[in-house]
Amino acid sequence: MLSSFLLLCLPLIFLGPTSAQPSPPIIDLHFHFNGGWDIDAFVKQMDALGVAKAGNAPWGAPDALALEWARKYPDRFIPFAGKEAIRGFIRSDGERTWTLQAPAVVAYLQQLEAALKAGEFKGIGEIKTYPGPRFPADSPLMQRLWSLSAAYRVPLSIHMDARDEPVAEMERLLASDRQGTLIWAHAGGAGPALVRRLMQAHPNLHADLSGRLPAVVRIREWKVLLEEFPDRFFIGTDVFTLAEFIDTISSWRKILDQLPPATARKLAHENAEKLLNPAR
Ligand SMILES: [Zn+2]
Repeated sequence: MLSSFLLLCLPLIFLGPTSAQPSPPIIDLHFHFNGGWDIDAFVKQMDALGVAKAGNAPWGAPDALALEWARKYPDRFIPFAGKEAIRGFIRSDGERTWTLQAPAVVAYLQQLEAALKAGEFKGIGEIKTYPGPRFPADSPLMQRLWSLSAAYRVPLSIHMDARDEPVAEMERLLASDRQGTLIWAHAGGAGPALVRRLMQAHPNLHADLSGRLPAVVRIREWKVLLEEFPDRFFIGTDVFTLAEFIDTISSWRKILDQLPPATARKLAHENAEKLLNPAR
């Protein structure tokens, strides 16, 4: 009697507490590394939320911070380069940065190419072309970054609000080399009709949906668009505090639950995995 009781209990004893993580796993492609955060504690929080990976560029810190996090947890963090460096060159050298006349940006681009060649960075960006100091999305600087995207098969993340002129520049950049891959951060704040037109015209255009939760939740046409282009969107958080991170991921889980499971999996992690591991 005692032995059969023990047999019944065995599975419970050896399984211990259940550690099921929320599903599907999420890859956050608009995550800014924050020098003030405790990396180990953050990884535990990611585990609790079912966030498999997170990445893009550091916020207010050099590219090296992204590498530091990625070295500590190579399977969890995706380092991008260029965000604060390019901003800094624009602040000091202005237009000479985006026309590639300033020696500092030229030297930086050489370093960036060497780091991409060595496989240190998995993407370029988030490069802000509008608003802020507005500069053309097809300027010599952006063309150079685009050629690096194509040559090293890494995405270029651009923050550019959807206005006629910048969109025309972005379209020229997209068409100039179909091997380049663009992630339009926040889908440019654009409405579904414009995003649809651009995605139809440009197979190498992708978008992260950070900052777009209210629209995606409320506007039915957004869900239709996600179904029309299930391979082209990513989840992003783009937040500055841990509380906002937890809140944003929880909101995304609610949206994923409303989507057909195959689309939810693509949006949550499969599209990002494909983008970060392109077939060579
Ligand atoms: Zn951002």
